Formats: sequence, C-alpha cells, structure tokens
Amino acid sequence: MRSFEERLADLEASVRRRRGHAYLVEVSRNDERRVLDALRRAFLCTHPDGQSCRACTGAPHPDWTEIELGSARSIGRAEVADFPTRALVPPLLAPVRVFVVRDADRMTPEASNLLLKLVEEPPDPVVVVLTTDGVHDVLPTLRSRCRWVAFRDPSPGAVSTQAPDWSQPDWAESLGPVSEGLRAQVRALEGNSETARRLIGQWDAVVSAALDLEQNANREIVRRRLEFCFDRG
Ligand SMILES: [Zn+2]
Repeated sequence: MRSFEERLADLEASVRRRRGHAYLVEVSRNDERRVLDALRRAFLCTHPDGQSCRACTGAPHPDWTEIELGSARSIGRAEVADFPTRALVPPLLAPVRVFVVRDADRMTPEASNLLLKLVEEPPDPVVVVLTTDGVHDVLPTLRSRCRWVAFRDPSPGAVSTQAPDWSQPDWAESLGPVSEGLRAQVRALEGNSETARRLIGQWDAVVSAALDLEQNANREIVRRRLEFCFDRG
C-alpha cells in the first residue's frame, strides 16, 4: 500500500499533468491541510522555483476560495450561492480559479445541488475541490461527478461503490471513481476472503471492460458487461 507521502506526490503530479475540473478528497482532519496545500501549489503556482508566489507561501490568494463548516451544523445554499457567478470571472493570478468546500458531507441537498450544476457545466478554467472525512455522506450524484482521491483507508462497509448512471451519455467518465471504490473495498475487506474474492472479480470485470472501451470505443458492449458486473453484486 502506498504511503501518505507517496499518495500526496501522486496527486500533485497528476494534477500538474492533467487538471480535472472536480475532485472529491477523502482525508482525515489531521491530514487535510497538507493535502489542500499540495493542491494549492499544483493548481495555482506559476513559479518554476516553487517558493516565491502567494500560492506557495500560503498567503490569501485571489483565485483560491475556501469555505468550511466552522461552528454551523451544515453548509447551506447561502454559503455557496455566489460560486457560479464568481466562477465566470477569469482568474487573476493563477491559470485557474479554485473553489474548495471542506466538510463537503455536511452540505445541505440545496447546496449540493447548486455545486452539482457548477461541476456538471464548469466554466473554464474552474476547479471544484470537495474534502470530507466520510465520502459516503456526500450526495451520490455530486460524488459520481468528481474524481475521488482517497487518503484514508476506509473501514469495512464505509465505501459504497455505485454503478455508473447508465442513462447519462457520459457515464464512462465515472468509471475512475467506481474502480477506486472497488479497490478500496477490497483493501478494507482483506480479512474476509469470500467477499474480497467477489469484489476482486468485479474489479477485474471493470478493468477488462475499461480496456475494451479504449480499444473498441464501443460503449454499448462495455455498458452491458459492466451492468452484469454490478447486477451480480
Ligand atoms: Zn509558487
């Protein structure tokens, strides 16, 4: 299993290589700041030396908006209501404008749905980052639209692996998080060999289906294979 530092380096490298538009980061509160700092550098730093800009020093940055639960019981619509308008404003210093919602599992359905719209049709260049210590409490439709990055090992049963929403034309894009979910479940269930075997079987089906998708670009065949894989579970 890769260490925390290795996962952090992987994430930073993958963001620099190819930036996604929505991330769901599952991380403990203790480690959350380190992950956000790494993402901040990866998204915002414009200096090759990596030391001389506001992104790297942690000073307030005009292109980085971060909200969290604080002492409230939930994050409501009002807290994120201006995100869509502000998302239309081009970034001031960085190549991208980033909106971060910590404690994303504590968003009300109204707040989640507002963010869902932003994630579904993000103006370029905008990135949404959600952090949570309990990914299963995030609205499933929102969760399925984000790239899921896990920094903590889930306890058995903590990860719900959902099949993609087949009715969506872009369902193949959610294969990444689905595969991640299966892998996490297998890791968590190492002691329960029968369940782990079944999950590994599902995982293999997802992998081979994904390879077919690459080679044939025949999504209908892939969809049928994946449906079978999930119906069995
Ligand atoms: Zn910098």
